[in-house]
Amino acid sequence: MLCDLDGVVWLAGQAIPGSVEAVARLRASGRRVVFVTNNSAALVGDQEAALAAIGIEAVGDVLTSAGSAASLVRPGERVLVCGGPGVAEAVTAVGAVPVAGDDDAGAVGVDVVVVGLHREFSYARLTIAAAAIRAGARLIGTNDDATYPTPTGPIPGGGSLLAAVSVAGGVTPVVAGKPFPPMAALARRRLQGPGPDSLVMIGDRPSTDGRFASAIGCPFALVRTGVTAPGEAVAGPVAIDAPDLAAVVDVIVEGGP
Ligand SMILES: [Mg+2]
Repeated sequence: MLCDLDGVVWLAGQAIPGSVEAVARLRASGRRVVFVTNNSAALVGDQEAALAAIGIEAVGDVLTSAGSAASLVRPGERVLVCGGPGVAEAVTAVGAVPVAGDDDAGAVGVDVVVVGLHREFSYARLTIAAAAIRAGARLIGTNDDATYPTPTGPIPGGGSLLAAVSVAGGVTPVVAGKPFPPMAALARRRLQGPGPDSLVMIGDRPSTDGRFASAIGCPFALVRTGVTAPGEAVAGPVAIDAPDLAAVVDVIVEGGP
């Protein structure tokens, strides 16, 4: 199983009622559960710890769009990071070198610019990133989500910053996260065992999670505890349409796909 986090398992780190038990039931039925999130800012270890805090052990089972972006970077490359700690962590893990880019020297010798949700983003950083791209650096976005949901409403997502860097640099970015092919390839590699026939992608956003299921070639299960409201019409194929994760697991465990 592939399962989104925000709007499915939790909202702002608070467990959605029934989700913890639902994950436990999936695992008890013999299915592996891998969590796939476009959250690139947080460290993987912090996301695993936050899941453990609500009762889900997930060490080694969290895939992020930062990890997907890093899968497109080669060892030894110098990477200007416009993103949170999760991006620098992922880039370092593949043997590349994060460049701070705190001054003009940061644009020198940069091979790749990676853009995610970057809370310290500034006009100065945009200038350095654009200069690096015009000097030949590749542009990779962790994701292109325009907004990010919070309990008080949407805030600009990494996609909004990526758009600024893309326009200023004059290039079209490669986007790593859901629903794009690099994340699909990463998920397939992590799951290895079962083919798409036995997989289901569970998510709350048809435009990313649903299209991601299509990219992998597996059914999409939609829950209505996140950005898609109960009763709201959605586009694209939906194999299971349920109120929440617990209801999806009812279908899967009791004879669904
Ligand atoms: Mg979500």
